[in-house]
Amino acid sequence: MQFQSRLLTAAIVSALAASATVHAAAAAVQATPQRLAAAAVRAQSLLNGPAAASVHRAGADAFVARDTIVDANGTEHVRLERTYHGLPVIGGDFVLHTRNGQAQAVSQTLKTIARPSLVPTLSRDAAIVEAGNQFGPDFAGLPTARLVVYARGAAPVLAYEVSFSGTRKDQTPTDMHYFVDASNGRILEHYDTIETALPGPDQRGCTAPTPAVGTGKTLLLGDETINIVKCGLQYQMVDTTRGGGKTTNMGMTTLGMGTLVTGTSDIFGTNLNNTPSTVAADANVGVAATWDYYKNVHGRNGIANDGRGALSRVHFGVFYANAFWNDACFCMTFGDGDGGTLNPLVALDIAGHEMSHGVMARTANLTYSGESGGLNEANSDIFGTMVEFYVNSSKNPPNYMIGEKVYKDNPDGTKALRYMFKPSLDKKSPDCYSADIGNLDVHFSSGVANHFYYLLAEGAVVPDGFGAGTWANLTPASLVCNGNTAITGIGRDKAERIWYRAITTYMTSSTNYAGARAATLSAAADLYGGIGSPTYNTVAAAWSAVNVN
Ligand SMILES: [Zn+2]
Repeated sequence: MQFQSRLLTAAIVSALAASATVHAAAAAVQATPQRLAAAAVRAQSLLNGPAAASVHRAGADAFVARDTIVDANGTEHVRLERTYHGLPVIGGDFVLHTRNGQAQAVSQTLKTIARPSLVPTLSRDAAIVEAGNQFGPDFAGLPTARLVVYARGAAPVLAYEVSFSGTRKDQTPTDMHYFVDASNGRILEHYDTIETALPGPDQRGCTAPTPAVGTGKTLLLGDETINIVKCGLQYQMVDTTRGGGKTTNMGMTTLGMGTLVTGTSDIFGTNLNNTPSTVAADANVGVAATWDYYKNVHGRNGIANDGRGALSRVHFGVFYANAFWNDACFCMTFGDGDGGTLNPLVALDIAGHEMSHGVMARTANLTYSGESGGLNEANSDIFGTMVEFYVNSSKNPPNYMIGEKVYKDNPDGTKALRYMFKPSLDKKSPDCYSADIGNLDVHFSSGVANHFYYLLAEGAVVPDGFGAGTWANLTPASLVCNGNTAITGIGRDKAERIWYRAITTYMTSSTNYAGARAATLSAAADLYGGIGSPTYNTVAAAWSAVNVN
């Protein structure tokens, strides 16, 4: 009897624990490559049969699996890209959700089985001219063009994807992609990726490096332990504990992959920006923190989830006041600031932001324009901020501002690039959704999702330190768009898991704000219970509070 009641108690305790944390059945598990491959094969056979109609399969559609997630309860989520007669279908990607070999649901934005004629009226050269008129004369190398089916609009059309690369006035490399309607030359959409040459490993003749632990005397975080390697008499900034990620010094140039940061002792930097190694140490720490965050919070093994470390390039360009992720070289690049009011762009939230663009490219791959582009930017701000909270350094107290450490002179801590709790404080980002938001720059249309995330995690609460001083007029009512000041935050632990599951499992390349609401609700239902559960209801309320209904 006593034995039985103890069992019952244990069952109740574990049931409570499950509801208080993550529904174990719905959490993703680390599946073997064989298990993942089998799931992808099952998805393909469903797409040849019962699931064909639900993904609007046309006869000449074919699919390639790009990512697979398996939940503890056996539910499989296979992300696939689509071609039509061998042409890429832009916006035709989807996630097929299956259970016990049966299709359960599809996450997608494509709504039709219609496909365009594949005979272009516009020539390839004419398409390049149309795109070139927008790009301007300063391009490097030769523009390229390929035929695609552009399916991000209401009806799929045949288009040329034309890409022009070069360097912007601010030294940022640019790789513009234009979708040019192959029937009339109209530019349907354009976006920028950043592309440079592929890196070669720089081991400086070192054949047998051994892992070592050193000290990074950083500019922004004080002294931090860093993982490096020793080779002969030289220490090198290579982190073998995190996939062999390297940090290189660009020496104020913009081309190439830079020179591996090395030293003659295991101490890198001086805490002052008087030696190249200081900022290299900041970048190293930021990248390591982001790696650890994804690994320990989300079970993700590196940006690509393949255990491979990324390259970090510091001292890029002259007075370059930005940072960027470049998916082509799997590398992150940090500028030194403007030489005046701005520090080097190596703060934790910036490193987290840039690496999260890499994670995004390997998950939902939200297209970097329109509403999907704003969501892509918000994803980076959200995880950059969560990395800052994960590190929780007294030298860089975590908050919902982006890039506050970039400002040299920031006595009351209110200067920042972006403000998640009240995006309009940057004087450019809207607080609330409106139908024309997709016309804004992606760094401003991100504001609404940042705002949603803040309300979800923290509730309609004025952040500490901002109830007085600069923004004494901030009130709970001013933090919401619909007067609902009763939102109670679900906390960062739940919020970050919901967002991560949404981007890995439900969002696709053309997801818009309405789709993001649906994706996060699905994720919340998986992890914390469906309609009626407090967490689910708060996700809905937080979106409604930014006018996404
Ligand atoms: Zn970004």
